[in-house]
Amino acid sequence: MTFSALASELAQLDARALKRVRRVLQTPQSARVRVGGRAYLAFCSNDYLGLAGDSRLVRAAQEACARCGVGAGASHLVLGHSEAHEALERALARFVALPRALLFSSGYMANIGVVSALVGRDDAVFADRLNHASLNDACLLSRAQFKRYPHGKLQALEKLLSATPARRKLIVTDAVFSMDGDIAAVPALLELAERHGAWLLVDDAHGFGVLGESGRGVLSHFGTFSPRIIYMATLGKAAGVFGAFVAGQALVVEFLVQRARSYVYTTATPPLLACAALESLKLIETEQWRRDRLAQLARLLKSGLAASPWRLLPSNTAVQPLVIGGNAEALAVADALNERGLLVPAIRPPTVPQGTARLRISLSAAHSEDDVNLLVETLNDIARR
Ligand code: PMP
Repeated sequence: MTFSALASELAQLDARALKRVRRVLQTPQSARVRVGGRAYLAFCSNDYLGLAGDSRLVRAAQEACARCGVGAGASHLVLGHSEAHEALERALARFVALPRALLFSSGYMANIGVVSALVGRDDAVFADRLNHASLNDACLLSRAQFKRYPHGKLQALEKLLSATPARRKLIVTDAVFSMDGDIAAVPALLELAERHGAWLLVDDAHGFGVLGESGRGVLSHFGTFSPRIIYMATLGKAAGVFGAFVAGQALVVEFLVQRARSYVYTTATPPLLACAALESLKLIETEQWRRDRLAQLARLLKSGLAASPWRLLPSNTAVQPLVIGGNAEALAVADALNERGLLVPAIRPPTVPQGTARLRISLSAAHSEDDVNLLVETLNDIARR
């Protein structure tokens, strides 16, 4: 590969309106941010409960930093596993009502670690076509046969499961699809997993803290529990901190401790983050108003955009995608919002299928009803022009 080949690939991305640019954030993550010296109302973050900049989390992190220092200094299996990590794992397991939890440095690493520990060459993994990239990468890395079924089409999944000669089978799914906002039919997936002797990995990155009783996530939302389920959730979205965890049967978790390479061969996250996440867990559990506000804001957005020429996907979560279609068109709408002081990301292929470029409006408990009304009015005004 030469420099000119890289340059021409970059030029092609640019020509197809697919080149991504980073904005430099000058404030903490919140509904109101400053970028390039200008104030914006933002609908871009996964900080669904508005906890990322919460003063109680900041204090917990500061106090923990003074007590525990900054770096963990070693991997968990050497000497990086601190009291704070241990306490957080216990609290998370209790919160999601599963026997044991294991912290990972990020959701991406959790998915890579779990899938490649559980399945290998003689096995098969079955994945919804709209799963997050980290799950897809995990499936490829595992070297198992990688079978994808059309989004939500469980009959297609059942056919694949019936046809496989594989030794071990693993079904993997987003719980809340990250670019569509809809919720996977976890009870029906579990039923298939049971019938075909498969494991079920549920990635609840966008449901943890938001769905279920007190934000316990998608399993609580459906009241679905089974030893076959391996549950993964992130701590960098609704929890407002960083990192991720996997929870399930104690035996499965112990297997991951020994075999998940992205767990074993990496430095533990700073213990101060575990202390911040413990504080966040308390707020997730006790501050129901945050989830109530999210639900109210979603209703407001839907009724406000009911007559829009652009289609809001049917979602009851904090992720509310407005499908525009073409890449350039989606960018133009995002730019027009930008000019008026509103930030909403345009999501384009390959993150979403061709022809479905969209604005991924993400709501947060940090937004007010006025904020959502302003977004609705501005979008409707742009549509009229
Ligand atoms: N799974 C899903 C469904 C996600 O949306 C994301 C992040 N966008 C991840 C996993 C990765 O999590 P993390 O950001 O903690 O690596």
